[in-house]
Amino acid sequence: MKKLALLIPLAFIACGRHFKSPAAAAATAAVVSGPFTAAEARAFAALEPIDTHSHVYAANPAFNSMLARLHLHLLTICLYDNRDPFLKNLQHEIIAARRFVASDPGHAAWCTSFNPFRYGHPGFAARAARLINRDFAHGAIAVKIWKNVGMELKNSRGQYVMPDDPAFEPIFRDIAARHKTLVAHLAEPDSCWKPLDPASPDYWYYTHNPVWYMYKRPGAPAKAEILRARDHLVAENPRLRVVGAHFGSLESNFPQLGRRLDRYPNFAVDMAARMPYVMMLPRQEAIAFIEKYQHRLLYGTDLGFMSGDNPQPVIQRWESNDARDWRFLATDDWVSYRGKKYQGLGLPPRVLANIYHNNAVRWFPGILGAKP
Ligand SMILES: [Zn+2]
Repeated sequence: MKKLALLIPLAFIACGRHFKSPAAAAATAAVVSGPFTAAEARAFAALEPIDTHSHVYAANPAFNSMLARLHLHLLTICLYDNRDPFLKNLQHEIIAARRFVASDPGHAAWCTSFNPFRYGHPGFAARAARLINRDFAHGAIAVKIWKNVGMELKNSRGQYVMPDDPAFEPIFRDIAARHKTLVAHLAEPDSCWKPLDPASPDYWYYTHNPVWYMYKRPGAPAKAEILRARDHLVAENPRLRVVGAHFGSLESNFPQLGRRLDRYPNFAVDMAARMPYVMMLPRQEAIAFIEKYQHRLLYGTDLGFMSGDNPQPVIQRWESNDARDWRFLATDDWVSYRGKKYQGLGLPPRVLANIYHNNAVRWFPGILGAKP
């Protein structure tokens, strides 16, 4: 019989149980996997969980009934990717995202984006701000800037354009003036700048998306350079809420992330698609970090649903993914990732409420009540 750790005081979990060495405990522990049990689903749903990082471009009754059953709220994030046949048409994407929000306004909100490749065209920022404001009028609650700024876009001299380039500044100022949020997926995990390593959580991604692999790429900026520019834009716009996607690309250096969060009160991060990095931390270190920054971490998955997708496998994968993350964060059950076992963190209820709900409401005003 599994027990939810949130029913057990943290001190007991930390001191009373772990008389076995972690290795000995892991060897005998049974892994819990698959979708939510009924009891887990009730505990998860009771938080009114909010996934602040998803990419949903389909309106589907079966998908929406999963959201209703789990009381799950999603922020669907648009982005401009000139290399992807669907994502290079931002207008189609926006229409699809809005259609999803309209199909389930109680559970869905949306984040717009802008085309950074118009950089250098006359009136670039004014045009981007005008379109963004049109989207705010249609209920968008945030704007995404994506990794193509810093890693793909170049100026007329062939130099990579950084996210703190003055050309973007009027856009950031306008977002702040409208009290909306900037979602910043800038840079990538460290492994993007290192030799390919099959043990890395990102190995599959870079072997399948070599276009984003920066190791030894001539002229490619160092990760530190992109993050310096990101930090500069956060510092220059203290009234702009910036949510860094994927732990702000500092998933393999939590102390560095902590220093940024200490320095910039307008900066928070989502946990999307990087939970394995938390699993790989020593358990007590992970618990201490999340407790310390419990007001600055937002739950997210990076899961997607496109209009041509068969809904059933998407729903199953979504629910199993959310269940695994829930077990890891909320219980002391063991979960598995790529053949290794990791014990859940058993975070206390107040921390779970912050990560899964309260922070999303504070960092994304309107997330529970966006207009379709
Ligand atoms: Zn994403």
